[in-house]
Amino acid sequence: MRTRFAPSPTGPLHLGHAYSAMLASDLAASAGGTFLLRIEDIDQSRSRQRWEAQIYDDLHWLGLEWPEPLMRQSERISDYRAALEVLWQRGLLYPCACRRRDILEAASAPQEGGEPVHGPDGVVYPGTCRAVPRTGALPVDALRLDMRRALQGIDAIEFTEIGAGPDGESGRISLSPEALVTGVGDIVVARRDMGTSYHLSVVVDDAAQSITHVVRGRDLFDATAIHVVLQRLLELPTPIYHHHKLIRDTAGKRLAKRDDARAIATYRSEGQTPDDIRAMVGL
Ligand code: GLU
Repeated sequence: MRTRFAPSPTGPLHLGHAYSAMLASDLAASAGGTFLLRIEDIDQSRSRQRWEAQIYDDLHWLGLEWPEPLMRQSERISDYRAALEVLWQRGLLYPCACRRRDILEAASAPQEGGEPVHGPDGVVYPGTCRAVPRTGALPVDALRLDMRRALQGIDAIEFTEIGAGPDGESGRISLSPEALVTGVGDIVVARRDMGTSYHLSVVVDDAAQSITHVVRGRDLFDATAIHVVLQRLLELPTPIYHHHKLIRDTAGKRLAKRDDARAIATYRSEGQTPDDIRAMVGL
């Protein structure tokens, strides 16, 4: 068993991160497996060295260990471009020049039915740029996956869930290509400013790290179908997924990185122990 914790160094780790990391580490330990750490820093405009250093410090304090050298996504852009090249050569990608506002307007146009559909990646793309010819070299541009074309000849998108989705989804999860075309649509696989995207990078890296069990928050359950599509297209294995509960604050709100009051560093400075943290998250 190989599990991983994949934080973005864009703020302090909070209780929810600690839970996710400890659960992934505990699972691997209970099976005699390996827990890995991956720094997801493709968004260089928001990633900070000081947050990365704080992540190592907090995780070590919690008692977690991982093999070095660890994987840092900012060092792997050429691997992501290679994966995009495969999809591009198969004619499954197209450049997109739409801004957020253009997409909202087009998706709300009367001929589109009025109400934009929201998928795991925001508003389902109305397809404005889809006709752009797909020839030549992989462009340095925002690139979308033509979902309908991508799913041609695929009966179902399936994965095994050993935790649970937001509506209790568990066991063998199966989605029809049509559900993905209408409910998810043509997702961005490369952002212009990064040359990649969260979805593309996470899929390439889970395979590169031979992750067998992806342990992460339930908020990412809906993204999993996208990841399985990309795994199928890139001929990569689909790991088992374990989506876990979200740690909420006392008002029932999901914790975000900006909730500094719940930062692990704050609990540490107040004299709490790693066992206190375990107890707080129910481990
Ligand atoms: N980097 C993502 C985050 O911090 C997690 C990605 C994942 O676990 O798939 O939310």
